[in-house]
Amino acid sequence: DLAAKHHFQPTRLLEMLREIQARDHHVSNEAVELLAEALRIPRTRLIDAIEFYSFFSSTPKGRYELRISDSITDKMLGKDALIDYLSEKLRVPVGGVRSDGLVSLDNTSCTGMCDQGPAGLVNGHALTRLDRARIDRIAGLIERQVPLAEWPSEFFHAEDNIRKPGLLLGQPIAQGEGLKAAYARGLNQTLAEIDASGLRGRGGAGFKTAAKWRFCAEEAESERYVVCNADEGEPGTFKDRVLLNAFADQVFEGMTLCAAIVGAQHGFLYLRGEYLHLYDKLQTILAHRREAGLLGRGILGRNFDFDIEIRLGAGAYICGEESALIESLEGKSGIPRNRPPYPVTHGYLDKPTVVNNVESFFAAAAIAVHGGGWFAAHGTGKSKGTKILSVSGDCARPGIYEYPFGTPVRTILDDCGAEDVLGAQIGGPSGTFVSNREFDRLLAFEDLATGGSFIVFDNRRNILDIARNFTHFFAHESCGFCTPCRVGTSLLRKQLDKIYDGHGSAGDVAVLDEICRLVKTYSHCGLGQTAANPVLTTLARYPETYESRLKKISYEPGFDLDAELETARRLANRSDAAAHLSQTGE
Ligand code: SF4
Repeated sequence: DLAAKHHFQPTRLLEMLREIQARDHHVSNEAVELLAEALRIPRTRLIDAIEFYSFFSSTPKGRYELRISDSITDKMLGKDALIDYLSEKLRVPVGGVRSDGLVSLDNTSCTGMCDQGPAGLVNGHALTRLDRARIDRIAGLIERQVPLAEWPSEFFHAEDNIRKPGLLLGQPIAQGEGLKAAYARGLNQTLAEIDASGLRGRGGAGFKTAAKWRFCAEEAESERYVVCNADEGEPGTFKDRVLLNAFADQVFEGMTLCAAIVGAQHGFLYLRGEYLHLYDKLQTILAHRREAGLLGRGILGRNFDFDIEIRLGAGAYICGEESALIESLEGKSGIPRNRPPYPVTHGYLDKPTVVNNVESFFAAAAIAVHGGGWFAAHGTGKSKGTKILSVSGDCARPGIYEYPFGTPVRTILDDCGAEDVLGAQIGGPSGTFVSNREFDRLLAFEDLATGGSFIVFDNRRNILDIARNFTHFFAHESCGFCTPCRVGTSLLRKQLDKIYDGHGSAGDVAVLDEICRLVKTYSHCGLGQTAANPVLTTLARYPETYESRLKKISYEPGFDLDAELETARRLANRSDAAAHLSQTGE
């Protein structure tokens, strides 16, 4: 029945697995067999997907599945003590299932609620502002087996916290306004306006939006796709959550505009699984757009058919990488593809595909209305317009801020009420740590490029705690496809832990530095290539902090490297000679 409901489409495998997991609290061998047969795909493809996505499990989870965000911002708000309290209160170990099967408890990567943590998920639904009092109530609801629909709505409430609207947030466009303006001006001229605006991809990479759209439009293949990447998983990033909660219609307008320009018939919004709470609302907005003649057949009475489908992710950070996202949309594990070819020529189902970030589509719709010059009048030479930031951490006013490119870090810190600042992590764990000696540096592609994460740390914080949290994050989120990242991120984590725990020698810092170089140089995709950044940037700025932890003069082995990597090898289905350290000589 499930396969029939999804038209026996293997591309919809994640949706089917999500439904099975929600109903049975795991995906059984029997379910795998049945689904593989119905979809006519190998069992191994399903098994790979279940192991790959953290929201699926082959063994039973609790009927109430609790996951608590392990993001650095949640830790700063006391998450570690809270999860221990929760564990004690519900008599369930962290990482385990209670013997009666009622509840399971685990850590999870950032849930995108850094401005209102500590946060978590219960059966996939976001929980905010956890504290002991709230946990007492949650534990009571679980013990009494109260359905989630009857839980107090404030437990799930997420504020938008828009603190500083600017060019885009300050003047949202009306429904249909962008498309009407584009047709009135002409689609080619509108693309020229987007080009003139200087808009660059807002996910962080900064590729010119107009160039990407033009490349796609120029492809000979007539079947084309538009994909909105709403899989923001970078710890400290939550601005796409707010854009989709408050301005989704404008984001959909930007996607439709793109489809009109490139000649696409089908669009996807790839929504991170952690934002399940937005799903119904977004479907309602899409339905309104169809009723208004802005989606579906004959949009605005023209010979233009286009519709948007929402697909949910399932807890894999790497799916924010555009080629991994496309693999995931096709119902596979999100392993990044070799590039070239790029998605713009060979994307979804190997067809030309534009993948842009939520903020890029949001901005493009406004540019269609106001023109390229309006946008380009703000910012710097190479960074036009504004950037929307997610600000969190040690500040009085965490939330969403919009600034023209070229704004100094100092201004942002002043606006958000940060005091006694040690530094700020800009661009998430893969970005840059800016110390309090560098606050004149600028928000811009020329200096500090960012997808939008801006985490403030005050002087109570220890730089090694920060580097360690980020390094653990990368080791957890490595997809396991390539050896330098799969092995290297685990080695980095272990080596840093050894130094952190006071078992390191001076030689261990040198080894740490060398592992960083190897991971950065030889990894297949951006995750691995940036996984060493937290160590490298903090090691360069605070060598004395690392040195203060070096208690041993002689070398002390911290662990058996090859044995420690057994789990990674199993998850990656690798047990060949090259996957063993002793045989690779690493
Ligand atoms: Fe996967 Fe890491 Fe290799 Fe990227 S670098 S493909 S995340 S193992």
